Amino acid sequence: MTTDRLSENESGYPPDTLGLEAEEMRRLGYRVVDMVVDRLARKTREAAILTGQADQLRQALGGHLPEQPLNAEESLALLAEVALPHQQRGDHPRYFARVPGPSSFAAVLGEWLGTGFNTIAASWAGGSGPATVELVVIDWLRQLMGLPEGTEGVLVSGGSMASLTAFAVARATVGTGVVYLSDQTHSSLPRALKELGFPPEYIRILESDDQLRMPVESLLAAIAGDRQAGNRPFMVIGTAGTTNAGTVDPLPELADICARENLWFHIDGAYGAPAALTAQGRVYLHGMERADSLVLDPHKWLFQPYDAGCLLIRKGALEQCFNMNPEYLKDVEAGAGEVDFRNRGLELTRRSRALKLWMSLRTYGVARFREAIETGIALAEYAERYLRQQPDKWEVVTPAQIGVVCFALKGKTGEDHKQRVQELADSGFACVSSTVLKGRTVLRLCIINPLTTEDDVRETIDRLGSC
Ligand SMILES: *Cc1c(COP(=O)(O)O)cnc(C)c1O
Repeated sequence: MTTDRLSENESGYPPDTLGLEAEEMRRLGYRVVDMVVDRLARKTREAAILTGQADQLRQALGGHLPEQPLNAEESLALLAEVALPHQQRGDHPRYFARVPGPSSFAAVLGEWLGTGFNTIAASWAGGSGPATVELVVIDWLRQLMGLPEGTEGVLVSGGSMASLTAFAVARATVGTGVVYLSDQTHSSLPRALKELGFPPEYIRILESDDQLRMPVESLLAAIAGDRQAGNRPFMVIGTAGTTNAGTVDPLPELADICARENLWFHIDGAYGAPAALTAQGRVYLHGMERADSLVLDPHKWLFQPYDAGCLLIRKGALEQCFNMNPEYLKDVEAGAGEVDFRNRGLELTRRSRALKLWMSLRTYGVARFREAIETGIALAEYAERYLRQQPDKWEVVTPAQIGVVCFALKGKTGEDHKQRVQELADSGFACVSSTVLKGRTVLRLCIINPLTTEDDVRETIDRLGSC
């Protein structure tokens, strides 16, 4: 340590580009570590969600553009005390809304280190270390998802970008045509199709069956109808764990249809794919391994801080679509066994999202991830059992399916349900979502935080039932 500090003084350059001294950098850096760990240690005493008032937040955080330096420690405090508390606490054990983000600390360390080193993962020559970490992590994720060897991938900001990337690649690989999805497909997917220029009349949104799954019969009818009308069927989108209810489309049947009809099979596992780490989830997600492209969201159920999405896809397809080697990048072009990640997606300059995954998978081990995911699945099943114990009061609308359960108060309207969601959020005790299933507004718990206890689940349901 002493020699390090000595040599950093001797180098002749100050360590910070814009002039902070080493001692100051350490003091502020340790301060940040303390603030983060303090917050994590007391997070259960915070509100599960806090939404601010626009004018008040603006007044506290705005002000004149600072021409002269302001005190860094005070600025950090302002961020930690005013800006950052005003958000959903996706890692709070009673945050059950939408999809929680229970990020893990070893992953945060990877993120910090990568940012501190200003890591770039764009070309092989300019970032062979981070590129290798990304290749390793992608292959680890491939193994966890059970996809065949040789499958490749790329890390992007999240599920939305991962699916958009997949659609561009699918079109570049097999040509365009009609796309089939269901009314339970996440809304970011039809949006991606629209932004990629797929005309609305080529996007078939099929009505889900009574279990909210893609209906195989109507899919077959739609494909046949399109062929008859002279349209070219192109891609089927299945979901492995819908955001609404945790439902999984009939993946083996969809895979068979795609094989027979020569269609691209895209699976959106942004929410549910990590359940494949567990024995129960593997059975539930059977068929996922047959995707031509699979999306998962490590910033959801793989305990990563935002942002991290992953696309896994057949070998060679990414580069075939995105390859870009202009003159000024010639001397950083990859050779055999080397990968230019700039040619695997739309980002050229890109940070490394792999470091956090690499750190957390190594630090905790897959067994710990598996156990943590099992806990979420079991807690949602506990919630369902608890609701069923009071049949006069509660109706289970969809059973616990990989961490998600939807339910309703008997004799109450959609408006009543929405009001209870709001009141519970305002109380700070917990945060849940309402959602709409087949036109009906219901309550929904998404339980993927392994810190959540049965007491948390019970008390949240009780409060929803009594407020
Ligand atoms: C969250 C989610 C998405 C979108 O992913 P982002 O990471 O928010 O971009 C897509 N599909 C499903 C099923 C999701 O749960």
